[in-house]
Amino acid sequence: MDQRSARFGFVESRFVKTLRCLRCGQQYAPGAIEYVCPCRSNRGSDWGTLDVEYDYAAIAQTITPERLRLDADTSIGRFWPLLPISGRQSLPPLPVGGTPLLSVPRLRLETGLPNLWIKDDGRNPSASFKDRASAIAVARAQAESRPIVATASTGNAAAALAALAAAAGQRTVIFVPRSAPPAKIAQLLVYGSIVLAVNGSYDDAFDLCTEACLEFGWYNRSTGYNPYMTEGKKTVSYEIALQLAEQTEAKAPMKAPDAVFVSVGDGCIIGGVHKGFKDLLTLGWIDRMPRLFGVQSTRSPALYNAWRSGAEIPEPVRSATRADSISVDAPRDPVKALNAVRQTGGAFVLVEDEAILQAILPLAQFGAVFAEPAGAAAYAGLLQACRDGSVHKDETIVVINTGSGLKDVRAAMEVAGAAHAIEPSLAAVRNLLEQGALST
Ligand SMILES: *Cc1c(COP(=O)(O)O)cnc(C)c1O
Repeated sequence: MDQRSARFGFVESRFVKTLRCLRCGQQYAPGAIEYVCPCRSNRGSDWGTLDVEYDYAAIAQTITPERLRLDADTSIGRFWPLLPISGRQSLPPLPVGGTPLLSVPRLRLETGLPNLWIKDDGRNPSASFKDRASAIAVARAQAESRPIVATASTGNAAAALAALAAAAGQRTVIFVPRSAPPAKIAQLLVYGSIVLAVNGSYDDAFDLCTEACLEFGWYNRSTGYNPYMTEGKKTVSYEIALQLAEQTEAKAPMKAPDAVFVSVGDGCIIGGVHKGFKDLLTLGWIDRMPRLFGVQSTRSPALYNAWRSGAEIPEPVRSATRADSISVDAPRDPVKALNAVRQTGGAFVLVEDEAILQAILPLAQFGAVFAEPAGAAAYAGLLQACRDGSVHKDETIVVINTGSGLKDVRAAMEVAGAAHAIEPSLAAVRNLLEQGALST
């Protein structure tokens, strides 16, 4: 049997060449290793992160930017040769990606940034960016005939896995810390996941999930640990490059922006954004790498701190940000996240929680995008970078909204204020009018 299919019982995509450890440089054939390189302790998040490498020459003979643009399928399936799947039919039957790149004319006026764009990934099936990764997790688990896909998460990653698994008929077990918000647990249960509420922290849930997967042969989707999640997440960059070219009537079929802003918790998304643009550069489909800006809360600054101090691995912090999707003590994908910022001349940007919540309003009122706090954080980071002078007014800037505002209505209510309570009479409406309460 081919080495690729020997160990995990399925044939790897012919375009996947190797997995390379980003810590020690060791290369592995795709079937020879599963999640992380054993060069590190594998405790906490100090593991050898793997990067998937492709045969780009073969890919370039199979797809071209022109063909991608004309593909009737606007989901991530159209990028299949660049993904660790054997074909687009192996993805769950629930289209992911293909989210709009919005030109936000009123937000451009408001910010004084005439080339600002919002990539609204809150419009994925489970309402967050995480669907891009979970689609790959379910596809690979099914190709390997795994009985269960498991993950540790309290939030969007688990909801995304639950949704994609429901579409594909794949069973899931999700480890959450017992303190997880009931609304998020509800979303998992509704999609049919088995939810294990661990009497402990997120870290305890994470370690237990890892052990259970090893013991019972379940497929582990956990962020940072599973190297293929980056591969799903990178599709956002392909879409941005295609949409930017199309919407600016560029001559080439793909165009890179000057800067991209995205919020950062574990660091998997920004690592994916970086990988996507690197792929396009290697293929010669774009001509430069955008600067990548990772936005963190002052109350969850582990990666920002590591970037400032030049550390390879961040010191854990005690996170307590209101933006729960980026509240992380020990980031699980630090190597890819730090590379994304360091290798592109970008920066990590810190914003206060207050600025994050306040950013929800202009995004919605001028951009018509309703973001959850972690999504709005990216926009708050852009405003901060404008003040710092790290972006210039005429640059082409993309802000990624990573999650829908409906994920956390309580945060939205905090900044949006309350409704006017009135009696069901016209007089009551007139009264409000006369008080000036209806002029905004
Ligand atoms: C997960 C998530 C993030 C952060 O992504 P990381 O990969 O953890 O850095 C940001 N915003 C939302 C809405 C998320 O769900």
